[in-house]
Amino acid sequence: MQILTIKTGSTLVSSAVPDRSTKRFSLAYTGLFQKRSSRIEVPVKCFYVSIGNHNLLIDAGWSLEVVNHPLRHLGFGLWFASEPVMKVEEAAVNQLRGEPVDAILMTHLDCDHVSGLKDFKGIPVYTSSEEIAYSKKSRMRYGSLAEGYDFKTFRFADDAAAPFGKSADVFGDGAVIAYLTPTHSAGSVIYRISEGGKFALVVGDNGYKDDSWKKGLLPGPLYDKENMRHCLAWIKEQSEQEDCLGILCAHNPMDLSIL
Ligand SMILES: [Zn+2]
Repeated sequence: MQILTIKTGSTLVSSAVPDRSTKRFSLAYTGLFQKRSSRIEVPVKCFYVSIGNHNLLIDAGWSLEVVNHPLRHLGFGLWFASEPVMKVEEAAVNQLRGEPVDAILMTHLDCDHVSGLKDFKGIPVYTSSEEIAYSKKSRMRYGSLAEGYDFKTFRFADDAAAPFGKSADVFGDGAVIAYLTPTHSAGSVIYRISEGGKFALVVGDNGYKDDSWKKGLLPGPLYDKENMRHCLAWIKEQSEQEDCLGILCAHNPMDLSIL
């Protein structure tokens, strides 16, 4: 298996986005009532995965559209809460330079993950039906970026080894398992990529950065705080297993690739 980290620029956010303990106001991650100059820059990552005969993109990062038309692309609310910073050559579609992508798997549908789908037309995109329903209900958080896609959804089954008891074997060959994690959002998913007895986890915003699961730091945007605590502890446990090749977070300062 091969997992390459693709950094599609970054986003300027309140320090409460990756770590809610930095501010007291529970909605501080929205950036309301804070100086824009106090924003921190957080990398926005997606992952190119080759496993067996699958070539996959997990999340899509920022779209090329944010380079010239960030406000039009995101709408004011999303732009205000998470202003994108990206150069043309940093878009996933340009970094991949024609590498095959058979499917795109979403960890969830927040703007910095879904935006880049615009640059990949005609490729099947997978997410959970729980996340689609939640994104339609939470317009303030998701805007309209996730609309207009004909998403494929997972068929979750009971799984005692899953952090919340539900998993789906995405392609039916065991290469990619999707775990439902109602933590950062109602339908977030963690992907377990495995081959030859080794595995890696792509955790999306469940672990915003390594410190999230190493130290149990809670992010700002949360669907369920207790679930997130449970999930971060579960990720840590997984990381300590001998067969674990790595944990890949969507906004970690360091790049991790598994080659
Ligand atoms: Zn994110």
